[in-house]
Amino acid sequence: MKNFTSVKTRITIWYTGIMLILITAVLVSVGTLSYRMSIDNTEKNVTARVSQIANKLNSMDKDVFGTVDNNEEFKNVSVYTENGKYISGQYNYDIAKIKFKDGILRRENIDGKEYIIYDVQTKQFGRPDRSNGHGGFWIRGAESVNSVILLGQSAFSVILVIIPLILLLAALGGYYITKKAFLPINNIIKTANDICIQGDISQRIEINPQLKPDELYNLSVTLNQMLDKIEKLIKQEKQFTSDASHELRTPISVILAQGEYLLDIAENKKEKELAENIVTKANQLKKLVSRLLLLARIDQNRQKFNKERVDLGVLIDIAANNMKEIAAKKDIIILTNASDSILIYADEALLLSVLTNLISNGIKYGKPHGNVIISAAKLANSAEITITDNGIGIAPEHIDKIWGRFYRVDNARSNENGSNGLGLSMVKSIVELHGGKIFVKSVPNEGTEFRIVLYD
Ligand code: ADP
Repeated sequence: MKNFTSVKTRITIWYTGIMLILITAVLVSVGTLSYRMSIDNTEKNVTARVSQIANKLNSMDKDVFGTVDNNEEFKNVSVYTENGKYISGQYNYDIAKIKFKDGILRRENIDGKEYIIYDVQTKQFGRPDRSNGHGGFWIRGAESVNSVILLGQSAFSVILVIIPLILLLAALGGYYITKKAFLPINNIIKTANDICIQGDISQRIEINPQLKPDELYNLSVTLNQMLDKIEKLIKQEKQFTSDASHELRTPISVILAQGEYLLDIAENKKEKELAENIVTKANQLKKLVSRLLLLARIDQNRQKFNKERVDLGVLIDIAANNMKEIAAKKDIIILTNASDSILIYADEALLLSVLTNLISNGIKYGKPHGNVIISAAKLANSAEITITDNGIGIAPEHIDKIWGRFYRVDNARSNENGSNGLGLSMVKSIVELHGGKIFVKSVPNEGTEFRIVLYD
């Protein structure tokens, strides 16, 4: 059904249909014309033959009928006495029944059969058959109209076989030519799809240099130039984020160091509060900048990636222990459930930050007295890690957006806990750097489950 709606198919159907209409129109006109001509011709032949015989008989002596008897000229011609009694020529019972009319070319219908009839009465006396009178003979020419039609029909059936063949050939040829002409469009669709699915903007539309530069060729070239521009802009933007984060690192470290110093020497509650605020905000900025730098490095394929043998169970325990204290503040319990010794190849530090981020989210968006459960299992060709909480959950309208950079479901609340909306995009980038996948399932007010699949 898909092919039926393609432009190629529609064009082929369109011109094949037009050809069919044209051919039918031409056939009908030619058929009608040739039928008319055949009838005219037959009428002329019948008249000529009858007149010829009549003339011959008229010019002869009275008892010479036998000299023309059974002659070639008698094809479809018959001779009758003045009273309509058959004497000679081609006999046909039906034709013999028709009333004689001198010199009138006409059509007669007998038992559904149509005949072209032409009679002429001669001056010649008949055979010495006195009982049948003394008038001239009736010469009758008769030709069945059906035989003319039959001749036309057999020519028509040959045409009926040839036309579908011509149409089929035209349709196949036309389809092949349009398919070839549309090849650049298929390449454009394929590249656009690849870019959408793989997110790799460096892909370009394949252009066959041997093709003639027509409109589609030019479209492909222009689209490739546009992709060059977009790729350059994206690179510039990533470079800017990377450069800006770099530039911010040193001043943030200075602010943090001096804030900590101020906290040490604070003499009263007010000073302590101010210094504490500086340290907290400087720490948030430090976290933001380090996340931005990590994302920039992954984007630009500059992230160092040390794949080593990692025991997933051990790594989960470390992450859980790191977060225990923070969880305890909200009376949240962290439970681990990893089967013994799940060995995978991964960058330990990066994977630890993935786990820490997801557990931290489970606590941040968890309800007091709730829990965060981390499980891991080894499957045939992969290892799976799930981090489940029974917290506030994520509404369906946000679920696809949470991986976006700086996306936060509840901005006001997130500002309170120092979130920056970069955690999950960083987690996703790291998982994908490992060739893995991450999925999320969530029910508002019941909880959220993140599932990571890392392939062997
Ligand atoms: P943030 O640093 O703001 O937590 P993330 O990228 O980690 O940023 O998360 C993006 C958004 O996804 C968060 O603002 C939050 O609303 C939602 N979110 C992430 N994890 C959870 C979770 N476990 N439960 C509920 N909401 C979550």
